[in-house]
Amino acid sequence: MRIGRFAVDIFSDGVFKPDGGSMFGVIPKPLWEKVKPADERNRVAMDMNSLLIRDADHVVVVETGAGSKLSVKQREIFGIETPRLLDELKARGVGPAQVTLVVNTHLHFDHSGGNTYRDGEKIVPTFPRASYVFQRLEWEDAMHANERTRGSYLPDDYAPLEAVGKLELIDESVEIIPGVRLDRVQGHTRGTQTVRVSDRGETLFFSSDFMPDRHHLPLPWISAFDLFPLETLAAKRLILRRAIDERWIVGFTHDLPRLGRISESDAKYRFDEVAD
Ligand SMILES: [Zn+2]
Repeated sequence: MRIGRFAVDIFSDGVFKPDGGSMFGVIPKPLWEKVKPADERNRVAMDMNSLLIRDADHVVVVETGAGSKLSVKQREIFGIETPRLLDELKARGVGPAQVTLVVNTHLHFDHSGGNTYRDGEKIVPTFPRASYVFQRLEWEDAMHANERTRGSYLPDDYAPLEAVGKLELIDESVEIIPGVRLDRVQGHTRGTQTVRVSDRGETLFFSSDFMPDRHHLPLPWISAFDLFPLETLAAKRLILRRAIDERWIVGFTHDLPRLGRISESDAKYRFDEVAD
């Protein structure tokens, strides 16, 4: 899809399967399983989406999926198969050395796992020329995880970037290249950020896990993984209003890899895919 001078693609690294009850928070299972059927272990299948943003001078990858460093046991627990990130980039003519910026909306392993890979004894950046852009608060929380958050942060996904000088920490809202803006949105974590691509009157918005798919558009549908659920609620109110009023194209972190528009009627939000 084109957004002004940018070419933007959304694709999936593959599926992972978190617990359905955790994914839908206080929403009772009889409601959520109508839109997201659970498997025999109560898990729901969610794609791990990446966004590829290109113009003449920049190649930006947002989210790197689960990567190749997980153990067999970790893969089994989360139903994660072989990562597709590099093949999906290659299919679009992008090799790892061409990527200029990597953005993670936050540092949970299903968004940052492909940042690095194991090369013998060492963990090295997957994208050797890229700077990796995270919110400073997210970095601090990921580097000092607590008993509640530890299961989601795997330091090998991000800590090695600091030693090789590839880390770029930002605060709040920053235009990382002309037309691509990152905004901190507290809710899922303290340092979650969203991505907005704007050019020639068009805007594409890439959500993060406070609104991981179209099934989380209704205001009370908030994941139990969110550390600040009432701030998720406030962010959803604000962002959905803007997305509708300004006719943003929207992509989600954990939906089918699709781009669409949001509309509202009878106090219900809906998402309609737009063609490329
Ligand atoms: Zn996620």
